[in-house]
Amino acid sequence: MMATTCRNLIVVLGDQLNTKLAMFDGVDKQKDFIWMAEVTEESTKIPVHKVRSVYFLSAMRHFKEHLESEGYRVHYTKLDDKDNEQCFSKELERALKKLEPEKVILIEPGEWQIKQDLIKLLDHYGQPYEMRKDNGFLCSIEEFADYAKGRKQLRMEFFYREMRKRYQVLMKEDEPEAGQWNFDKSNRGSFDKSGPEKLPVFGRYEPDSVTREVIELIEQTFPDNPGSLGHFDWPVTYAQARKTLDQFIEAGLPDFGTYQDAMWTNEAFLYHSRLSAALNVRLIGPLEVIQAVEEAYKQGKASIEATEGYIRQILGWREYIRGMYWLFMPEWKAWNALEAKEPLPELYWTGDTKMHCLSQCVGQTLEYGYAHHIQRLMVTGLFSLLLGVKPQEIHEWYLAVYLDAVEWVELPNTLGMSQFVDGGKLASKPYVATGNYIKKMSNYCSKCEFDPKESKKEGACPFTTFYWDFLLRHEETLKPNNRMRLQLRNLERLNTGDRAAISRKANEYREALQKGAL
Ligand code: FAD
Ligand code: SF4
Repeated sequence: MMATTCRNLIVVLGDQLNTKLAMFDGVDKQKDFIWMAEVTEESTKIPVHKVRSVYFLSAMRHFKEHLESEGYRVHYTKLDDKDNEQCFSKELERALKKLEPEKVILIEPGEWQIKQDLIKLLDHYGQPYEMRKDNGFLCSIEEFADYAKGRKQLRMEFFYREMRKRYQVLMKEDEPEAGQWNFDKSNRGSFDKSGPEKLPVFGRYEPDSVTREVIELIEQTFPDNPGSLGHFDWPVTYAQARKTLDQFIEAGLPDFGTYQDAMWTNEAFLYHSRLSAALNVRLIGPLEVIQAVEEAYKQGKASIEATEGYIRQILGWREYIRGMYWLFMPEWKAWNALEAKEPLPELYWTGDTKMHCLSQCVGQTLEYGYAHHIQRLMVTGLFSLLLGVKPQEIHEWYLAVYLDAVEWVELPNTLGMSQFVDGGKLASKPYVATGNYIKKMSNYCSKCEFDPKESKKEGACPFTTFYWDFLLRHEETLKPNNRMRLQLRNLERLNTGDRAAISRKANEYREALQKGAL
């Protein structure tokens, strides 16, 4: 029988599934216990997509099996254990009472609120503990805060260059590989009328017995949560994440650069790597991914445009987003620079809309728990921004429906990059466009009853109508922003009649949305 005396209790949260993380440093397998718990709270605070719940639980259970096979002692509560209090802090308290550890060892949680709750609980309980730095990122919270000090603007690009130099990634001594820091301009291709040629299929895994059991459990426990589980095939172990990376390098990376921003009807994944969830629960580390991709470039398997385009997402955006989250939390959650106040339209939960682009992106999200970056930013995010949806509602939607959603990465992307609630701390201007952008980047409009060129007449594209309506409503607020100058100059060309017609059409569409008739 397993001894229950416990020297240190090592806390492993659902997004900390890697023994290279600092809480594992110095663990004595005979004396210490690893603590992990599944709680319904995680799926009900906001009712989350079933795929997300299955992903976390399946990855946790596989990690537990791995730990036990390595000889660790694991105190693990399953979702359906009869004593489970279904609340994270109550479960930890129960383990503290039972095991009476001398010390609790943990790393900084990824989410601001969880960090506060944990500190409060451990202090209240009088429990000695050691909260270590999270060593799973390439830039620590303190290093980012130092970088930010004294800078008026915190744009990703300059941070990214520092990271390239620091980690000597795609560098020739002090100069960027191929003489250029950023190949973004080559990352904006779209498909011609015939669409993408044979798309790669990789990183898909038939659910094993552990995942199948979790699928059944989630279906039974949260039957009314959003999303379907019909296609669950995500990498849930390190071995699967690594295989996905290797297959992506062979099959996806060569075209990733060109078609990074492209969209196509009924094609959810195109050339994207599908690695975000595995990275976020830490099955695989960012440096391993970056180095493998750089190595592929050195071996001539991918162009500089594709390689730099991919590495920028992880070494640049992902680290920058995390730094920004910790710099501006908890204030970020309360900001609303554009005073957005519309409710989130019901179509975000059903995909039931005449707007083909939205029905595709929401439909695919409900089906897979996945949409790629431009679908999130320039379709679902854009529509919410143009319409003026309350920040808290759209934030909760993104947190609920994506399999890779964890607050430190979701919140800055949604509230900062997409909804501009911070008035420009993250993005230099609101990402606003008419339906013509969607037409350029996809074939969605060719299957839609609306016309992306039209803003006020019958059949006007709601994106185009709301784009002009957005500029009209925020003209004064946006005037001081130099980067909006061109768009506002075009607005000035509209006469009074045009302006009134746009506002009328926007109101008509707002009413239709409320009735579920758009
Ligand atoms: P790929 O396109 O193959 O990109 C490779 C990797 O780069 C991703 O796996 C991811 O780790 C990283 N990456 C790319 N873009 C970003 C970014 N903007 N911020 C941080 N990392 C990035 N990503 C999440 O991981 N979780 C979220 O909850 C999340 N919410 C988002 C909300 C909005 C409104 C927007 C616009 C973006 C959001 N993103 C989020 C970023 C991005 O959309 C996803 O990381 C990406 O679509 C995941 O798919 P992939 O793994 O196939 O990525
Ligand atoms: Fe979307 Fe407008 Fe294009 Fe229809 S016409 S698919 S609503 S952008």
